[in-house]
Amino acid sequence: MQFEVDENGYFGQFGGAFIPEMLHPNIQELQDQYLAIIGSDQFKKDFDHLLKDYVGRPSPLYFANRLSQQYGTQIYLKREDLNHTGAHKINNTIGQILLAKALGKDKIIAETGAGQHGVATATVCALAGVECIVYMGEIDIARQKPNVERMKLLGATVVPATSGSKTLKDATNEAMRHWINHPDAHYIIGSTVGPHPYPDMVAKFQSVISAEMRLQLKEKTGNTNPDAIIACVGGGSNAMGAFYHYLDAEEVRLIAVEAGGHGVASGATAATTQIGKSGVLHGSKTLFMQTKDGQVVEPYSISAGLDYPGIGPSHAHLFETKRAEYISINDEEALQAGVELCRLEGIIPAIESAHALAALSTIKFKREAVVVVNLSGRGDKDLETYITKAVY
Ligand SMILES: *Cc1c(COP(=O)(O)O)cnc(C)c1O
Repeated sequence: MQFEVDENGYFGQFGGAFIPEMLHPNIQELQDQYLAIIGSDQFKKDFDHLLKDYVGRPSPLYFANRLSQQYGTQIYLKREDLNHTGAHKINNTIGQILLAKALGKDKIIAETGAGQHGVATATVCALAGVECIVYMGEIDIARQKPNVERMKLLGATVVPATSGSKTLKDATNEAMRHWINHPDAHYIIGSTVGPHPYPDMVAKFQSVISAEMRLQLKEKTGNTNPDAIIACVGGGSNAMGAFYHYLDAEEVRLIAVEAGGHGVASGATAATTQIGKSGVLHGSKTLFMQTKDGQVVEPYSISAGLDYPGIGPSHAHLFETKRAEYISINDEEALQAGVELCRLEGIIPAIESAHALAALSTIKFKREAVVVVNLSGRGDKDLETYITKAVY
């Protein structure tokens, strides 16, 4: 219970809903209704059905034999890379589209940086037959052409954000402004970030990952609990999903991996817990990288999904209470770990997930220890990065 959200939307001292006055009705409606909706029999039935027949769940828990030999421990990979659309993000967007329908909303707004969340959102909008508007920075649109084309093919309208630095935070601002003017829409946030109830709601949708892990581990090892779980952290949703049902099981080590970029001290990093401070970012009190006067510092990582200046409030709380360990992995180390998985297991991981894999070289586990790495996504989207940057 110590790690559950409280009735005011806080995880310890982090969380809450810091939003413009004009957004209060929208957020209030969500806060008032989300638990009843997602707890209803109809919702659970629809959610389970789509996760099974549309997403392809349960995702396998795969014992990685050659990788285990390499590191002298028992390594299992939770295969979120095998989900429809290639990552864990679809678990959340399926949940939110069902929630939107239950709220009577017939329009969806989202923002996206690299386009992964935009694609997962456009996908479920097509599935549900609702209008989809995705805000994306003008610079990101130029950088991420294939994902822009995917969203359009799926029927979404991609709106360029042309203010400020023309990237994710500007897309977020413009999407929020749109929502204020269109309260008949639902806003789908893509990670465990934003004002309450998003961090808790997204964690609950992603918690299917650890719910399945418990059953799969029981079957394969005789024990529902592993010794450790490793997951990468951008905003924190795949990690929260993988940790969720183990938060109160103190004997399970929870290891969260942030993107070190060129190195924590280099000024080009996304290692929030290492250099971040407490403040309000994107509607909640959390840890984020900031200047002395509280301005957001631009993050850097080779992986677009981890290139975020903060972490969600539930992670800030896990960090502060030391329930989870936070480490950082640099670009080079992640690339190397990604290539290693290709060569040892025939799996090309997303460069985000490769950060989690790289933790295996920095932490030594006992030979009999059971270690689960959450393989958050597949690496097709990162082919260009591997080809041009990795050494193999
Ligand atoms: C978006 C993304 C992430 C980072 O997001 P979280 O909310 O921290 O999980 C990690 N891995 C993949 C494959 C992603 O697409």
